[in-house]
Amino acid sequence: MSINVTKAYLPPLEQYVGYLEGIWERGWLTNNGPLVQQLEADLSAELDGSQVQFMSNGTIALQVAIKALEMTGEIITTPFSYVATTTAILWEGCEPVFVDIEEQTFCIDATKIEAAITPRTTGILATHVYGYPCDVLAIEEIAKRHNLKVIYDGAHAFGVRVHGRSLLSYGDISTCSFHATKLFHTTEGGAIIMNDKELARKVWLYKSFGHVGDEYFTLGINGKNSEFHAAMGLCNLPRVPGFIAARHKLVVLYRQELAGLPLQFPESQEASLEYNYAYFPVVFETEKQMHQVKDALAAQDINTRRYFFPSLNKLPYHTGADCPVSEDISRRVLSLPFYQELHLRDIQRIGIIIRSNLD
Ligand SMILES: *Cc1c(COP(=O)(O)O)cnc(C)c1O
Repeated sequence: MSINVTKAYLPPLEQYVGYLEGIWERGWLTNNGPLVQQLEADLSAELDGSQVQFMSNGTIALQVAIKALEMTGEIITTPFSYVATTTAILWEGCEPVFVDIEEQTFCIDATKIEAAITPRTTGILATHVYGYPCDVLAIEEIAKRHNLKVIYDGAHAFGVRVHGRSLLSYGDISTCSFHATKLFHTTEGGAIIMNDKELARKVWLYKSFGHVGDEYFTLGINGKNSEFHAAMGLCNLPRVPGFIAARHKLVVLYRQELAGLPLQFPESQEASLEYNYAYFPVVFETEKQMHQVKDALAAQDINTRRYFFPSLNKLPYHTGADCPVSEDISRRVLSLPFYQELHLRDIQRIGIIIRSNLD
């Protein structure tokens, strides 16, 4: 049987059907229905009282965030993320300015941000890579000093806490993706998380075509999400602590199986971190070893993913300044299969294949 790199959790069907019955009774399918309102309220409680807007996906969330914060010109960003982080900037007509990453967390290196600021810089868009936190306190200070707005792409960060609060409560805006492959999912979906009520109203307008009834305020887009997606979220949300606990156990097993091998794992020294174990990436000593292992696993129907490759300053349609650390890590990194129902015997098989393909 094939093993995929991720596997979406599906709640008990009866529970989802229970929500469907409510949708059928009400005949209210989308446009801020009661399940969307319920999910937003539950998420707000989960995310320390922040204003939460449920969005169609994590990419539109990023684009609406850039619009709502009126970022223009240059946006300082990370080259080590999913492509949507960079394309959201380009799609909004801004220029991504890449700052290289830290060797341990693979997040943007905050000590290199100030050197990249120019008179055209209006903001910072950084990713909490694999759920490891950016240096949010240092970035906040830099942003204050230079009057910049901050967006965190928190697509990997659901359930992470740092300095006693949700990692998604940092920045002017944090975005999240609730895509089926993520730790917490709503099939497709995402969110914009912020603390400012005025900003939340602006985001609401942008995601709802820019009008309320017959009154037209601004350019907008359709960034809403439906009752069906909210229902999936309501089924899954209470299970997140269980997901995280199960994944923690799998990480321990993986680390045991891979002990003593010349592999690097991203990590964070942040003492206050409560981590979510969103992914299981490994960095090989060479790109050749990475390919050998990837191919050997694929021959056994075990799928892995070069998450993230390429380094985003090397996209074929947009080239940025050199980022040697990001380029080097992205060539050697591989995300191994990782989801709650992965079995010990699968991890052992994967461990044996890796061990015998490192020459
Ligand atoms: C998944 C992901 C996105 C995109 O989210 P979608 O909901 O798929 O649009 C953006 N950034 C990162 C880092 C992601 O992992």
